[in-house]
Amino acid sequence: MTPQTVNAYYDPLNNQITFPAAILQPPYFDPKADAAVNYGAIGAIIGHEMGHGFDDQGSQFSATGKFENWWTPAARTAFTQRTAALSKQFDAYEPIPGVRVKGALTLGENIGDLGGVETAYAAYQKYQAEHGKAPVIGGLTGDQRFFLAYAQAWQAKLREGAARARLLTDPHSPPFYRVNGIVRNVDAWYTAFGVKPGDALYLAPGDRVHIW
Ligand SMILES: [Zn+2]
Repeated sequence: MTPQTVNAYYDPLNNQITFPAAILQPPYFDPKADAAVNYGAIGAIIGHEMGHGFDDQGSQFSATGKFENWWTPAARTAFTQRTAALSKQFDAYEPIPGVRVKGALTLGENIGDLGGVETAYAAYQKYQAEHGKAPVIGGLTGDQRFFLAYAQAWQAKLREGAARARLLTDPHSPPFYRVNGIVRNVDAWYTAFGVKPGDALYLAPGDRVHIW
């Protein structure tokens, strides 16, 4: 990646996450922005990349980058059970009539997004414990701003042809589902916005996927 690249990655061989300069600017990061916004946007992306070090791919590389599996069989079984439910959720999304998201193809990245939001949210709560509870700004609580910033980081527009090609080949879910398909598994999102049974994205607590 060049400094101008708006992207980020995890490299298992060096056990390293990389953020080019171009992603360290709004809407991902702004040194002058409210902390909730930075945790919800770049924080969730940092959590996503860190998560790759612990997921189905990261489990195959040791802390020194050596190609060796460090999970117990029990850990792998539990991981497979939890992630299968997430795969099933994404299989149900149909961004273009007749063309669905591929839950298996996008699983690793969806795990990264879910773990990333949860890690960033936990970090934001630690930040508030140290710096005091976030004020209400513009009628929005800190937790609401956290989730809105996460959603704003994934704003995108695609032509139908490009969206079709990506649905078949891209291991990342379409941006819309990287938000709506993820937050509905996060308990804190329900509390932040008072989401109730009957609401469009509501999932019963037992149907929400928690991996880590
Ligand atoms: Zn990723």
